[in-house]
Amino acid sequence: MNFERIKNSYKTGFVLISIDEYIRKHLESQQTETEKDLRKRLNAALNDYKKGIKCFCGNDIWVIGSAIVRNACFTCITGESCPDHDYEIDEAIIKRPSTKRRRHIDTMDKS
Ligand SMILES: [Zn+2]
Repeated sequence: MNFERIKNSYKTGFVLISIDEYIRKHLESQQTETEKDLRKRLNAALNDYKKGIKCFCGNDIWVIGSAIVRNACFTCITGESCPDHDYEIDEAIIKRPSTKRRRHIDTMDKS
């Protein structure tokens, strides 16, 4: 199994959604949750993601799952190898500067 390929495709199978829209959808099905609490946890997970906090396996954390379970990637939370129409917060995918990240990976590969 090619781990590099899994890593690269990891954030691509998600359906992007804004925090507000996700909260609305989530509250429709989970009426025991309060909006304030859910928003707080989503923002905390998103901040952890932006700080570069990773799952213990080395993958980027899945913000939505991390807000509900704990800070971990999609695979570690669900046991599925890749997302299939699962939601991820748009900011957790769009905001990352790709050139910086690529340079970082290049330096890591040389060591
Ligand atoms: Zn993981």
